[in-house]
Amino acid sequence: MRWSPGEGYLWRPAPQADGFSTKDLDVEVDVAIIGTGPGGAAAARALSDVGVRVLLLEEGPPEERFRPNQGSVMRHHMQEGGAMVATGRAFMPIAAGRGVGGGTLINSAIAWRCPDAVLDSWGPLLDDQRFSAANMRAVYDWLWEYLGIWDTLPAIAGENSDIVVRGTRAVGFEGGYLARYTPRCVGCGTCFYGCSTGGKSSTNHNFLAEASSNGARIQADTKVEDFLVSGRRIVGVTGRMFHPDTHEAGGRVKVRAGRVIVAAGGIGTPRFLHGTSVDLGPAVGKGFHTHPGSAVFGVCKHEVNWWKGATQGAYFHPPDMPGVLPHSSSLPPEVALLGLAPLGIAAPEGLALIPHLAGLLVMISDYSSGTVGRWPDGRAKLSYDFQDADVERVKGGMVASAKVLLAGGADWLYTPVAGVGRVHTPEELEAKLATRTIRDFTLYASHPMSSCRMGTDPATSVIRPDGRAHGYEGLYLADSSIFPTSLGVNPSITTMATATILAQGIAQLG
Ligand SMILES: Cc1cc2nc3c(=O)[nH]c(=O)nc-3n(C[C@H](O)[C@H](O)[C@H](O)COP(=O)(O)OP(=O)(O)OC[C@H]3O[C@@H](n4cnc5c(N)ncnc54)[C@H](O)[C@@H]3O)c2cc1C
Ligand code: SF4
Repeated sequence: MRWSPGEGYLWRPAPQADGFSTKDLDVEVDVAIIGTGPGGAAAARALSDVGVRVLLLEEGPPEERFRPNQGSVMRHHMQEGGAMVATGRAFMPIAAGRGVGGGTLINSAIAWRCPDAVLDSWGPLLDDQRFSAANMRAVYDWLWEYLGIWDTLPAIAGENSDIVVRGTRAVGFEGGYLARYTPRCVGCGTCFYGCSTGGKSSTNHNFLAEASSNGARIQADTKVEDFLVSGRRIVGVTGRMFHPDTHEAGGRVKVRAGRVIVAAGGIGTPRFLHGTSVDLGPAVGKGFHTHPGSAVFGVCKHEVNWWKGATQGAYFHPPDMPGVLPHSSSLPPEVALLGLAPLGIAAPEGLALIPHLAGLLVMISDYSSGTVGRWPDGRAKLSYDFQDADVERVKGGMVASAKVLLAGGADWLYTPVAGVGRVHTPEELEAKLATRTIRDFTLYASHPMSSCRMGTDPATSVIRPDGRAHGYEGLYLADSSIFPTSLGVNPSITTMATATILAQGIAQLG
């Protein structure tokens, strides 16, 4: 395994992947991996690096199909067409990426190490120290080198993030420019639409490219539907190719494999497992976290033009609110217009307002949790039970965000909360939020995780601490679904780190 800090980041053209065909595919490999996001890609790289024959299967398209509009991204690069919503005390859209690269194709590439206290809390839960803060440090160090992670440079941050940095310094909070895996970023502000300049270290430009050059194959446009089973051993998977535009069913896929790793994501993994002939116990889909939150928009006299600069380039820590993490965020103009509509701002006024907006997305490490089930038609059935304590933390994060935006140069504020609308001071926002319930909030989440947890007890976990499924041989999970708790920071780097450690263990099994 090559882990050599100092070699510089790895960036290669996206690997060749096979796509839709009407012909059936029947192959045999050492390891089949479902999903090509941070988990699947990191596992493929670690295994192929020591000579294991790997086939990755990916539901999304083989190549980036980016167009500069939200509709195209939803259709091709978001799971379930961008229409996943959790119901419960409130209505909460949840986003997850799709395609060769998974969520990294459309994420902002914000890089955080999981806080030591969170990692060290896993030891007693797992009765295992492999993910302790001390053990994870070397993997994080390597990822920082491998992906080319550094703080967003002021030259490409853009005014939206600059406002947050100025405001954070002015009020004396801890914060600054965000670390991101974007070594070639030119600050075009379109991370949510994909990176057309190759500025982002999405997994297709590193893990998958390296795995491919090690001999791994990638079969895209392929939805895995079930396992091949022999007694209590998983011996492969079956699936079907689907045309990326027409969704016409194509060839059937049968992969015979010594081991199968499921890495279909925090929603995709339990959604897939619920649809198979294998029962992995009552914990599948339970305890689902997703870092929910809302937003505060500052309205500035000067033009911010938040589409210029890093999509999300700054953050701050509100004092005395552990796990509350506001980030600067821009929105595509058409999405911003839709977001302003519930506030009574019609298109002409909204169009005039958008160049003057600065945005902070307020994300929390959730005590609340939900479930991932499966509707008969195969879509994820999501529920989420918002606890009052988390509602108060979202409100607290929004008030702190108001302070930062006003100190950074905003004149007044909008919040996407019914009954609040336009406010001028943090105190006014706090007073108006006090009477609002979670149903009044426009919510958003894009960090699904912890839905098929690691643990020692099959009643409350799906896999053991070494990644093996309870009750079956030959089956492993290695993605964001396995975390035993909410992380509190953006999860992609920790997903890569944990998948790398688990895959190294699998590789040693021969
Ligand atoms: C808009 C957005 C912004 C984000 N910003 C950040 C950020 O800045 N920093 C950060 O750390 N995180 C961010 N995230 C979250 C991060 O991208 C995810 O946590 C991460 O991608 C999860 O990795 P994963 O390997 O678990 O799953 P995913 O990346 O979701 O990959 C799973 C893959 O499996 C495929 N799949 C699913 N089901 C099947 C099936 N049955 N058969 C075959 N393939 C299947 C999917 O198409 C997908 O490509 C963001 C996410 C989104 C959506
Ligand atoms: S801001 Fe633009 S160039 Fe930078 S990583 Fe995002 S999409 Fe790529």
